[in-house]
Parts: sequence; structure tokens; C-alpha cells
Amino acid sequence: MRELDVKVIEAKVKELAIEANYYLPRDVKDRIEILKNEESYPLAKDILEKIEENYRVAENEKKPLCQDTGMACVFIEVGQDVHLIGGNLEESINNGVRDAYEEGYLRKSVVSDPIKRVNSNNNLPAIINYKIVEGDKIKIIFSPKGFGSENMSAIKMLKPSEGIEGVKNFIIDTVVKAGGNPCPPIVVGVGIGGNFDKVASLAKTALIRDLDKRNDDKFYRDLEEELLEKINSLGIGPQGFGGRTTALAVNIEVFPTHIAGLPVAVNINCHSTRHKEAII
Ligand code: SF4
Repeated sequence: MRELDVKVIEAKVKELAIEANYYLPRDVKDRIEILKNEESYPLAKDILEKIEENYRVAENEKKPLCQDTGMACVFIEVGQDVHLIGGNLEESINNGVRDAYEEGYLRKSVVSDPIKRVNSNNNLPAIINYKIVEGDKIKIIFSPKGFGSENMSAIKMLKPSEGIEGVKNFIIDTVVKAGGNPCPPIVVGVGIGGNFDKVASLAKTALIRDLDKRNDDKFYRDLEEELLEKINSLGIGPQGFGGRTTALAVNIEVFPTHIAGLPVAVNINCHSTRHKEAII
């Protein structure tokens, strides 16, 4: 059994939170570059160049990529052979987030109560997803999630008889309704299956998958490509000003479901799709 002090996790969460907000991941930058070169509409190309300039300035000056530094989403995989010592894991994760948002000059965007709406002033609490896995390592993924795109996300409990066409129509309708609001080019995270809460979590997990990694199952890999092509034919374009580049990728995650249901969730992320990971 490996012993690990939660203070190590706290420090790592802080580091990842700052870096995720300053540096766009390589896979996202690569997709923007590829699609910019394929974009024929001059205004769209110009906006994609501005997006590239924005992330270069953020990197060089160590400043947040966007004013919306998001709710702190933390995905943590804990090896079952790790014995955590030195305190409470959840408290340590939240302490790391709090320190990152204070010391990294990241906007505090969380209200303590959804109706009374008083800012918590420390961007807490983080939304933490735990998974127990084999081994003696801990994997942490930090993903700040802006709400311009989160607000454009949707969930629907389809009837099984609506089938694959129903799924495709719901995904496309959600993107059409979102228009320019989620700061395109977007990443479309799709969950299919499970139940009401599981499908939303699948869609969120789909957003942290590398954009150059496609679904392992050929059926869903083809569906990802088909939907991406359809979305990029809608004419929404970067920031909604028209053009081909509406989405960088469609990532689909699936799970078994009930005979009476076909849940689908679409979680949209913006061109500032941020995530940073580490293994301790
Ligand atoms: S949707 Fe993304 S790019 Fe747009 S304001 Fe929110 S975090 Fe920033």
C-alpha cells in the first residue's frame, strides 16, 4: 500500500488549475490550426487567427485564456492501493482550487446558492468526479468550464423507437439553438445511454477526451465524423459570424441503458476547451 499525503494532491490541483486556465491544450490548438487552413470564408479565417493570437498572448503573458475562468471541474482517479494520509481529500482539492483562483488571478465565478446568488469569492466548491481504479497512482484532470457554452447544453430522454435518427436530430438541434452563444468553434460532448444523471456525466467526460482520439467503436467513430460534417455545414462559423468552422470535434461516449429508454445529453464546450492532467 502506497501512502500519499493529500497536501501533494492539493499542490498539484493548484498547479493544474492555473496551467489549464493559461495554456490551451495541444490537441485543441492543432484542430484550430487545421480547420483555419481549410476555412475559405475570410471573416471566419480572420476570427480563427484572432483566437490563435489570443492563446499565444495568454501563454506568453501567463494570463487566463478567457475572462470566464469557469467552474472548477476535477476528475480524479484514485488507485485502490493508495492510502491517503494527512487530511481530507475533498478539502485538499478545494484548497488547491481556492489558492489557484486567488494566486493565479482567475475570476471567481461561483455563487454559493443558485437562487440567493452571493459570490462565494473563492470559486468554491469544485465539482469533483471520483473514480476508484486499480493500482497505486492518482490521476487528476482539471477542466475549468465556462458557462457561455454550459448554458447551451441539453439533455433529452428519447423513446427507443426514435432510434439513431432521433439521436442525430437532437444533437443537431441543440447546436443550431446554441448558434454563436457558446463561442464557436465548439467541441460537442455527447453522452448516449445510462440513465438521467449518467448520460450527463458521459457528455461531460466526452469533453475531456483528446480531440484527435476518436471513439474505439467504428459505429460511433463514423457517427462522430458524420455529425461533425453536418454541424460544419450549418454555417454558424467562428463566434457565429458564418463559415465552415462551427465545431472542432464531436466526441461521443456511450453506456448500456434500460429497455424502455434512450437518454441523450449534449454538453457543449467553446474554442477555449481547457483541461490539464497529471499522474501522481
Ligand atoms: S464560452 Fe468559452 S470562450 Fe466564451 S466566454 Fe465562456 S469560457 Fe470564454
